[in-house]
Amino acid sequence: MGAGAKGGGAKGDGGDVFTPAQRSAVMRAVKSSDTKPEIALRKALFALGYRYRLNVRTLPGKPDLVFPRHGAVIFVHGCFWHGHDCKRGRRVPKTNRAYWVDKIARNKARDEKARNALTALGWRVLTVWECELKTLDPASLKIRREED
Ligand SMILES: [Zn+2]
Repeated sequence: MGAGAKGGGAKGDGGDVFTPAQRSAVMRAVKSSDTKPEIALRKALFALGYRYRLNVRTLPGKPDLVFPRHGAVIFVHGCFWHGHDCKRGRRVPKTNRAYWVDKIARNKARDEKARNALTALGWRVLTVWECELKTLDPASLKIRREED
């Protein structure tokens, strides 16, 4: 009750085996999933009455948030890693430039593939960019179908 969607246990909050420093290194390595703005978004959606699951592995691309009742998924994308067309997303590190350009292009291709596969399965796919998280009105996300 009240706590929102279950985290699935894989990244539970209790029982730390890491020191705080190790933990933050792991968190950075894992991808920008549990960032504060993303958690704020989840809480806001929960408060709006949405019930969701996190990181559903069985769906293409492992969407960050899945709304089974509404047939919708949300990807929360980091602008750099997913090549958003914004200030942050356009910035490419000066060292190993070719590597990053290629890596991000592959990430984008993978995102596109996941999006197409999900759409083909009947899911509505929403993308929220990291740079939008702070100013986004969660109520404006079209999670419900028109007929819901
Ligand atoms: Zn962006």
